This record gives sequence, C-alpha cells and structure tokens, in this order.
Amino acid sequence: MRKTVAIVGRPNVGKSALFNRLAGMNISIVHDLAGVTRDRITAECRRGPQVFNIMDTGGIGANTEDILTEQVQVEAAIALDVADLLLFVVDVTAGITPIDQSLAQMLRKTNKHVILVANKSDSDKRRLGSGEFSKIGFGNAAEVSAVHGYGIDDLVDSIVDKLELTEEETEEARDERLSARPLKLAIVGRPNAGKSSLVNAVFGQERAIVSDIPGTTRDSLDVHCTYNGKHYQLIDTAGIRKQAKVEDAVEIFSIQRSYAAIKRADLCLLVIDCATGAKMQDRKIAQMIVEERKPCILVMNKFDLFHPHAQQKDRLEELAETMRREFFFLSYAPLVATSAKNNENVGKLFVQIEKVRKGAQGRIGTGVLNRLMHETIENTPGPLGRSPQTFKLLYVTQVNETEDVSIPVPHFVMFANRAAKMTDGYLRFLESVIRKEWPAPGVPFRMSVRGKQ
Ligand code: GDP
Repeated sequence: MRKTVAIVGRPNVGKSALFNRLAGMNISIVHDLAGVTRDRITAECRRGPQVFNIMDTGGIGANTEDILTEQVQVEAAIALDVADLLLFVVDVTAGITPIDQSLAQMLRKTNKHVILVANKSDSDKRRLGSGEFSKIGFGNAAEVSAVHGYGIDDLVDSIVDKLELTEEETEEARDERLSARPLKLAIVGRPNAGKSSLVNAVFGQERAIVSDIPGTTRDSLDVHCTYNGKHYQLIDTAGIRKQAKVEDAVEIFSIQRSYAAIKRADLCLLVIDCATGAKMQDRKIAQMIVEERKPCILVMNKFDLFHPHAQQKDRLEELAETMRREFFFLSYAPLVATSAKNNENVGKLFVQIEKVRKGAQGRIGTGVLNRLMHETIENTPGPLGRSPQTFKLLYVTQVNETEDVSIPVPHFVMFANRAAKMTDGYLRFLESVIRKEWPAPGVPFRMSVRGKQ
C-alpha cells in the first residue's frame, strides 16, 4: 500500500505552497483532485520508481477564522489516522508561536515520524532563524523555501529515507501475487448443516488435493484444493469432528472451532441448513463473522429439501427473503443456494467466491468519495422529523485495515465537527450510498467518525 505524508501546521506557514511544490516536482499525476471543501486534498509525488502520496491538511475546515483550534484538532486527527509520516511546517520568519507548540504536543502523541520543516527559508539571513525551532523537539528543521524551491530535493530525500520506500509494486503485480496465494475459506455452520458434504462435493468434482495439513490449532483441518484453476485452502471445521469421533460434541466446542477458523479466514462460507432454517447457533456464528469483520457468503444448503414442489423461482425468492430477515445484520453477504449432497450449484458458489475476491480490489477514489458524501449529506436531512444535520463533515477517507490480504476490508473514516451527532443509523445509511457506487459484495465496510464532539 502506498505511504502517505501529511502536511500539517498552523495557517499561513505555507502548507499549500509546499504541497504544490512537492506535487509539481517531476510529476505528477494529481488524481482525485476535486475535493469538496477545497480543490486540493491529495496528490501523488513520484520520484523515479519511488512514489508516495501527499496530503495537504491546510484548507480543511474552510476559511472561517473561528474554526482555528477545531481545525488544528481535525488535522491532527487525520494525520493520526492515515499518515505514515508528518511534515510539520513552521514559518521561519515568525519564530515559534503558541499554536506551533500545542500542535507539536499533539503530533508527539501520534508516535508517528515527524519531519520539522522550516518554510520561507528564502535567504541566508532567514535561514539563521531556523535553529530556534530545534527547541520544539523534532530535531533540526529542514530549511526549505516552498515558493523558491530551495531545499526541496533534500526534503524529498529525507521523506524517502524515513518512509523506507522501495520501488513500488505495480497494481497488476500486486494483484497477481495476491491471487496466486490460496484464498483461505472457512467453512462454518452448525453440525449437520452440510459442511463436510460441501467439502466432499468440491473434491468430488476436481480431485486435486495437494496436501492435508492439520490446522495450527487442532480446531480445524486445512485442505488445499484447486477449483477452476484457482487455488484454495479450505479450513474445514467439520472434518476434525469426524476424525476425533466426538459426534456428540456440545455446541460450545463447535462454536470455539468456528471462531478459530473465522479468525484465520480470508472469506467465510456460512453454511445454513435451509431445511430446518436458521437456528440460534447459526446466528451466533454469523455474529462472530460480523464482529471479526470478515468477508462472508451465506450458503443456503439442502436447497433440494426446501419446498421441493414449489416453483424454482418462487422457492429461491422465498428462501432469500427468509435468510435476509434472519441474518439482517449480515446484509453484506451474498446468498447462494446449494445442494451439497447432490453436488448442485457448487460451481456457482465458486463463481460467487471469485466475485467477492474481485469486487474487493481497488477502492473508491478520495475525490469521488468526498463529493458523494457531501452531496448525500446536503440532500438528505437528518432522521425523519428532525432538522438537517448538526454535524459538519470535513473530510472522508478510506483506509484499509488489513493490508496485503487477498480480500481487503475497507474502513471509511469521516472527520467531522460535532461528530457525536453522526449516529450509527446515519453511518449505515452513508454506507449504503457508498455501496451503490462501489458494491464490493461480501465485504463488510467499517464506518467511523472522528473529530470534535
Ligand atoms: P456437517 O456436520 O455440517 O459437516 O454436515 P454433513 O455434511 O455431515 O451433513 C449432514 C447430513 O446432511 C448428512 O446426512 C448429509 O448427507 C446431509 N446433507 C448435506 N448436504 C445436503 C443437501 O444439500 N441436501 C440434502 N438433502 N442433504 C444434505
């Protein structure tokens, strides 16, 4: 994942000028530029094979003066969350100001790398003043003049050093590397739902067992297989039970086994016996999947036993409706009806698995995301009967919590003033709006708010 450098500092120290200078270096594909509260948020800074993103926090919070401290706090919050490195910009002509000092304190708390930048070091005379800034506690300041270009090369050297940037892997290379990895599928569900039958159906169709490796804990068996030429690692929680002959294992063991499997999985296949319908234990397992924020597909197994004499289409609709109701808290999971015993629709299940993997790649651009959220909030007043929102959205960004996994799970962080007014219900509504733009089936979205209460 590309590293991000945030430019922070009090107003008027030249953050935007520095941003422009860095973005304008060799470059630059300045993507996602049309932000909302301003026309510049992030840009790509590329030097040879080394690339990083820069984020200008300067204009967030618009131009009103009374927002100053709030703005500084929001900047710190953003920096805290998304940046790998902070450029703390001070003005060499102004000396250390109280705002610089309190900002320094906040930045220290982030425990992030900080490069202190003494901007406006246009002349030797001015540069004499930069020594004073070492008192602020981030070592000697890098002397730059954003407007004249002085010191910029050295600054970029330090950034590249601090970020320990290596040549960036292209997106294609990364996709190729990740899709070459076996996708870890946890097959979970209560006893008798048909998990073993499903695993057998997979192997029945393409007998390509590579190896049987006992899971790290003795909670599950891992079996490797290929299906349609793709590599999978099945975390089979049913197999061990059969092996250990603890057929009457109490529910609690089954739940614990499921938990361990879910934690290790890239994608969970929650197998439900649709002949008996969803039971408490199914819901408990589903709850664990949600809590662990795992991608998921609901496998409605034993479809052959579900109202077998009704019309196929009606049956499917009815079943889907019932499942959606039972698992309303798992609404991101696509549904697939299978009949493992008769080996029906197992192929369809794997098509869906690949859809989930594919749909999770990429991301919604920062500019698009910000525009979408601001427009939505503007056009959709608060909950019924209430006045329009009392919160003010400043900026929204997507961070992927788990990097370098086959199915990344996105986290959308909203920075807002009066953040507490943004209720969970409203966040769910915003999530549904994002999903229209970028569906990512099977993948849970995490939504959260930061900022002043
Ligand atoms: P597990 O405990 O989840 O591994 O469940 P099993 O795979 O052992 O299946 C439990 C029982 O349900 C067995 O008797 C299977 O033959 C039966 N079964 C599994 N899948 C299906 C299915 O799709 N349709 C029908 N009719 N029976 C099934």
